[in-house]
Amino acid sequence: MISQKYGWPRISTGDIFREAAEAGDERGLMIKARIDRGLLVDDHIVISLVKARIEREDCQHGYIWDGFPRTINQAEESLKWCKEGDQQLAFFIDITDQAILQRLTARRTCHECHSVFNGHNREYPKDGLCPKCRIPLIQRDDDKKEVISKRLEVYHSTTEPLLRYYKGMEYFYKVDGSGDPDTLFKKICDIIEAA
Ligand code: AMP
Repeated sequence: MISQKYGWPRISTGDIFREAAEAGDERGLMIKARIDRGLLVDDHIVISLVKARIEREDCQHGYIWDGFPRTINQAEESLKWCKEGDQQLAFFIDITDQAILQRLTARRTCHECHSVFNGHNREYPKDGLCPKCRIPLIQRDDDKKEVISKRLEVYHSTTEPLLRYYKGMEYFYKVDGSGDPDTLFKKICDIIEAA
């Protein structure tokens, strides 16, 4: 929604890694093994892929990172990519572990166009097919309960410390994510427009 409204490409590291995993080469298999176990992909791979992505033409007037940075090392590295005059905003969407578990286990995804349906504000199509790609929606392996528990454990040990890292930064915003997506979207747009 934010990408559409402002015309900034959304760079989802999760989508980048799922595509890399599908390539089936040595690096792809290694990435898949990490994702399927609920572990983070190694920093040096994440950093080189994200850096290469933002150097592309479509990112020259802004971009949105989704799922990045997830470690202090990634955050520190990403700060080095900022150019004079660049404006940054960092959002932490605050939501309980229980709500994450509920939302992710309900999620069904199109592995082609990455559309997501959750049976709530985005109803599952009755035929179980992606309306755009006409292929069956799937539950991602890492959206299964056991893997989500591991992802949450990794989040608390490795990603949550980023909150302390960003806390003092003037462009850091903690936003309540417990409501519906439209409410969250509005809160984020208000912040972007006031910045
Ligand atoms: P997501 O779709 O953002 O939940 O990401 C799915 C999986 O991709 C994560 O559970 C990690 O295994 C991997 N991943 C995504 N973003 C990152 C990142 N910034 N650092 C390390 N691993 C990542």
